[in-house]
Amino acid sequence: MKIILGKSIFKGIAIGKIAIYKKDDYVVKREHVNDPEEEIKRFEAAKDKAIDDLSKLRDKAFKEVGEDGVAILEIHQIMLEDEDYNDSIKNIITNESVNAEYAVATTGDNFAEMFSAMDDDYMKARALDVKDISERLVKVLLGHTDSGITGDDPVIVVADDLGPSETVQMDRDKVLSFVTRYGSKNSHTAILARTMNIPALIDIDYTEDMDGVLAIVDGAEGKLIVEPDAETILTYREKLNEELKSRDMLKELKNKETVTKSGRKINLYANIGGIKDLASVLQNDAEGIGLFRSEFLYLAGSDYPTEDEQFQAYKTVAQNMAGKKVIIRTLDIGADKQIDYFNLDHEDNPAMGFRAIRICLERPEIFKTQLRALYRAGMHGNLAIMYPMITSLEEVRKIKEIAANVKEELREQGIPFKEDMEEGIMIETPAAAIISDLLAKEVDFFSIGTNDLTQYTLAIDRQNEKLDPFYNAHHTAILRMIKMVVDNAHKEGKWAGICGELGADTTLTEEFVKMGVDELSVSPSFVLPIRKIVRNMD
Ligand code: PEP
Ligand code: MG
Repeated sequence: MKIILGKSIFKGIAIGKIAIYKKDDYVVKREHVNDPEEEIKRFEAAKDKAIDDLSKLRDKAFKEVGEDGVAILEIHQIMLEDEDYNDSIKNIITNESVNAEYAVATTGDNFAEMFSAMDDDYMKARALDVKDISERLVKVLLGHTDSGITGDDPVIVVADDLGPSETVQMDRDKVLSFVTRYGSKNSHTAILARTMNIPALIDIDYTEDMDGVLAIVDGAEGKLIVEPDAETILTYREKLNEELKSRDMLKELKNKETVTKSGRKINLYANIGGIKDLASVLQNDAEGIGLFRSEFLYLAGSDYPTEDEQFQAYKTVAQNMAGKKVIIRTLDIGADKQIDYFNLDHEDNPAMGFRAIRICLERPEIFKTQLRALYRAGMHGNLAIMYPMITSLEEVRKIKEIAANVKEELREQGIPFKEDMEEGIMIETPAAAIISDLLAKEVDFFSIGTNDLTQYTLAIDRQNEKLDPFYNAHHTAILRMIKMVVDNAHKEGKWAGICGELGADTTLTEEFVKMGVDELSVSPSFVLPIRKIVRNMD
């Protein structure tokens, strides 16, 4: 028995034989051509075929992994059409009078090199994509067919790295787990593993002689156990059985409505920090996104994300959710979420300090950039905006003023945007809860942030471990406030939900439904357990 330690990219257990996945072996030779024009035509024809192959794969991926698999292949199609990429290939063919295979492979290497050298993790991960499309093109030019997993039994796929179009081509029923030597947590393979709900590891130092050998993947612990002994197999079989049992029970609830027996419907949404969480949203069948913590876009970089970067991120989420509601919360930094480039002064009491909407109102240029990106992205799906840390009517009115200016600017510039997006506020301060009757007249919805509402109501710093014994989110004061906020929303014909952690507290689900809460937005893995409770209610 040998235990190889790596990094987990998705939890779960797999027991099966290892299949070492080898890319098609091919050699790209540099050859002189007499007619570069003819070679460019060969390249164009290969590109058309590659795009056509990708379209077919899209249909297959859609059936197997849903929207997320499709997104990867669409990115590849777009990359194949990229002007810089195409120009580079054609220039090499013309200037050097060489074969298309060589020009494609060289361009692929150069572009991959360029992406790998970038600071941004997301862009780094794109190096694999550009290599992937170049390999696809070379294979078409050489007349190779794609390889896949052979044999009837499902296997643990082990490889140096896996391009997204390779993973998506594999027969889903035959893959127990993805295990690679290289790869990043941001790679599409990782997203696919989460979407497919199978364990995945990276940084695994395997050897060729492991091909065909029995192994166990422990996704949670980041371990590959090769040739496990009988006792280890038994232990993991039991764990796997438990996991499968609970998963199966919940799977039955997918594509079902979150509705009580008497017909009361709850909107059961998921909380996300970014695009990377979309897979688990889809996998757990959330009915929308109730809280997209947009500050993670700001936390990820070393400078303010540009309007276009934000627009792309919001658009991607909107498109992936395909018409389902996506509520994006505007920037909520400060307190525990500090960002160096904001250059905020030190505060003795940051939880009660300069944070969230207060920063946005003081620095409207940052706020306006985000609002422009949001209104523009609104054209691409069912987006809504939500403002954090509201304490007064004045804040809401100032927000509206800035929002109106932003829209006016976009209109003048002739930039398409969504005029009538749903806009709501978080109720996460006692002040907002107490004046929720007044606030309800001003906004489209409320989303109760119980994490901060508890902190401010009970005067307990949520970061201070010492206060854990005093942190009682079930405190009557909190539950009364939730009820009051919901009632005040309803009096004005508005809806109210909960997006703080308390919303995922299954011991309170029934109580929330009885209070009239319209929406619960929770971590994706809580969606199905909560649906189960709601469906069992009278
Ligand atoms: C909350 O305060 O409950 C909330 C959802 O926001 P965050 O946890 O991001 O402060
Ligand atoms: Mg909060």
